[in-house]
Formats: sequence, C-alpha cells, structure tokens
Amino acid sequence: MFILANCCGIVPPRLIGIPQILRQRTIQRYVHAIGTGVHSAKRVRMTLRPAGENAGIVFVRTDRGNAAVRAKAQNVCDTTLSTSIAEAGVRVATVEHLMSALWGMGVDNLRVEIDAEEIPIMDGSSAPFVDLIRSAGLVEQSAEREFIRIKRSIRVTQGDGWARLDPFEGFGAAYTFEADHPVYNRYPKRAIVNFAQTSYVDHVSWARSFGLVAELDQAHAINRCLGSSLHNAVGIDGDEILNPEGLRYENEFVTHKILDAIGDLYLLGRPVLGFFVGHKSGHAINNKLGQALLRCEDAWEIISAPTEDGVSTPEVRVS
Ligand SMILES: [Zn+2]
Repeated sequence: MFILANCCGIVPPRLIGIPQILRQRTIQRYVHAIGTGVHSAKRVRMTLRPAGENAGIVFVRTDRGNAAVRAKAQNVCDTTLSTSIAEAGVRVATVEHLMSALWGMGVDNLRVEIDAEEIPIMDGSSAPFVDLIRSAGLVEQSAEREFIRIKRSIRVTQGDGWARLDPFEGFGAAYTFEADHPVYNRYPKRAIVNFAQTSYVDHVSWARSFGLVAELDQAHAINRCLGSSLHNAVGIDGDEILNPEGLRYENEFVTHKILDAIGDLYLLGRPVLGFFVGHKSGHAINNKLGQALLRCEDAWEIISAPTEDGVSTPEVRVS
C-alpha cells in the first residue's frame, strides 16, 4: 500500500470515470464533518475512515449500536426526493451526494460513521465531500479495481421519464428535462459530459440541489426538506433565483441531475463503464435502472484492468 496523495498534492480527478485507476483506493486518515440533514433538519456528525480492500462503502450508525448499512443497490429502500438505503431495519438517508463524490474521487473502500439517520447536506452539492476526501488523502491498495462494463443497452421508464445505460468506452452522462418554468426556461435543459474530457470536480461537483419555494409546503407535509435553506439549495420563487450569489454554473440545474445519477449508480458497488442517459429522471428512475441492470445479467460483466479495445461503441445517442 502506498500513499497516492495528501492534502497538498491530490491525484487529478479528471479521467476517473475511465479505467485509469486500476487499483482500489481508500482514504489515508479519518476526517470529520458536522452538518444538517436536509430532510430531517437534524444535526449529524459524520466521520470517514479508511477501509480494507474489497470492503466497499459501508455506512455505520453509531447511534444504533454501530449497525452497518452497505452501499448497495439492493439496499435502496426509499427514493422520495433523495436516495435512502437500509439493512436489517436500520436506515441511512440521502446518500447520493456523498456517493457521487466518492465516485468522482475514485474511492472504493470507506467506512462512513454517522450519529443520526441522514448524511449531512453540506451546501447541497458534492464539493464539500470532495474537499473532505482531499483533506483525508487517498491511498492505493493492492487489490485490483473492478468495473461494471455495460455490454448492451438497458432502459427503464416511469411516467414520462426514462433512463438508459449504453455501452461506452469510459463513463459519460447526458441529461435533459423539460420543465416549463420562467427560471428553468432561461438556462440549459440539457447537459452531456464525457469524463474522459471533463473534470468531475471542476464541472459537476459544485452543482447544488434546487427547488421551487412553491413546492416546499408539499415536501414539508411528507416530512421532506425540513432542513432545506438557501445555504444548501438553489431556491426559486416566481421568476427569480433567491440565492444572492446566483448560479455556480449556467447549467447548474441539469448538472446537478447528473451529479445525482452518478451517486445513485455508484450504489451498484463498482464504477460503471458505460454511458448514462436520463430524461426527466430522478432518484426513483436511477435506482430502477440499477435494479434492472442487476436483473439482466447478460447486459453487463465485471472486469478489471480493461484494455483499450475491450470496450466499444464510441457513438453516443442522447435521445
Ligand atoms: Zn441531489
């Protein structure tokens, strides 16, 4: 085992979506964060600790006798406005932004201790988690990293939304939404990212959650968004964005949907080699796609150290 990086010299996270990292990684030392659950509004202390080879990402509820909840698609128990997982009746809520950051930083093995049910929302993006992982440093382990290589397209639909995974060399994502709203209409409703050319940290991780103030009462009625504020989301009221600082990217809304999809897909347990396309999709469809993929065993294979000619289909269809 040797140290890849520390707070002074991180490995550039670009190209992380493609099989450049061939050994599993964990963090070098433990780090803490304190924050609030966006849905529960409860304060939570989170500690990230190194984990051994092939451990995967494991959440540990220190307030529930150190019960472990593994980050697995099979453990997804709720996708209402966020993704929650559960194991043996113990739940961990809102895992997607942290999972997205772990994918973006190429972290395979990690113990995530929390003293409440929900992962802290931080600023509503995954950038604070990226910073946390950077401050912990990364360590390369001996075991080979494994990838889920998509061999044929898989598509799921729900209502008027759908999502698909296509074979692709590396990892990329495209997303479109169609909401007809005076604010959304001013900004791009489509984004496409090939992570062979685009840095997750620079161009995706800063995108925050967003929502209409008019829909907050509805969310509060089902005990969601109780901790939501302009410190952890982009708030939209009428035809204006309420946050004085405005947007971080011109396409922040659609980019956040890609950030979410990456986090949801990383619950498959290994990075995907494929191209994700989402249309009006959210956590429910993302997780349905993951479940469908696991059921269709002829649609994927687990590989390690893929060769350049081991994957194909460079042409990307986004519709
Ligand atoms: Zn999100």
